[in-house]
Amino acid sequence: TLEGKNALVTGSTSGIGLGIATRLAASGANVVLNGFGDPAEIERLRARLTAEHRVSVTYEDADMTRPEAIAAMVARMIDRFGSVDVLVNNAGIQHVAPVDEFPPDRWDAIIAINLSSSFHTVRAALPAMKARRWGRIINIASAHALVASPFKSAYVAAKHGLAGLTKSVALEVAEHGITVNAVCPGYVLTPLVAKQIPDTAKARGISEEAVKRDVLLAAQPMKKFVTVEEVAALTAFLCSQEAASITGALLAVDGGWTAQ
Ligand code: NAD
Repeated sequence: TLEGKNALVTGSTSGIGLGIATRLAASGANVVLNGFGDPAEIERLRARLTAEHRVSVTYEDADMTRPEAIAAMVARMIDRFGSVDVLVNNAGIQHVAPVDEFPPDRWDAIIAINLSSSFHTVRAALPAMKARRWGRIINIASAHALVASPFKSAYVAAKHGLAGLTKSVALEVAEHGITVNAVCPGYVLTPLVAKQIPDTAKARGISEEAVKRDVLLAAQPMKKFVTVEEVAALTAFLCSQEAASITGALLAVDGGWTAQ
């Protein structure tokens, strides 16, 4: 149980982040939601999580490309809840293009959101975690933190970087009761993946059905998408007391993808 613990999940208005926020709330944690979306829909989501799980749920609209906004979000959370016990760095975007045609502004955005934002949340949250001598940092990386695919240079570079950040911070805080791990999902059919199917089809000159079958799931021996709930369950386990000795680990949930 995470009763009395306070969790921040970046990028939790959709997909995997939303699944993780829901799972942590169900485990009794107060949750700070973050991410973009329709304000009315986000408010409905916030109210639903609060009512269903009887925890405090707040929402922060901080843009993960803006270090000052990230620092302010974490400061407000500490002010309001007293701590950041669980930090899930999940916000992420994708862009698919050959490297010599890759728009530099997409490169910069992917590095900022998928990698640097985690540095900014960690540096803001760590002092409070250290003070309490307890903390869980879970970085939602990807199978692309372990292996590469063509046409995803920025994403693969950012996720490999996030793997490195995970290990480095894990070593720094190893004696502080804080664990730092990366969860590395294979393909999960969220809006992020659905959106890249047309671009991949264009880059490879094949149909969208062929992208699902021959590109996405071709890499995944189990031939089915990983579910949001499976990623959320592993994340929740990493927050538990039983997971206290797991740190600096890159944990694949990828249907066998990176075993190849
Ligand atoms: P998604 O598009 O459904 O959700 C992304 C979330 O991040 C949304 O809440 C969005 O609003 C938020 N976000 C995007 N840019 C932001 C910004 N600048 N500031 C704040 N929030 C921002 O995507 P998803 O598939 O749920 O992906 C979540 C994470 O999981 C990402 O880091 C992604 O790389 C990773 N991942 C996804 C898959 C997959 O197959 N879907 C596989 C491996 C890893």
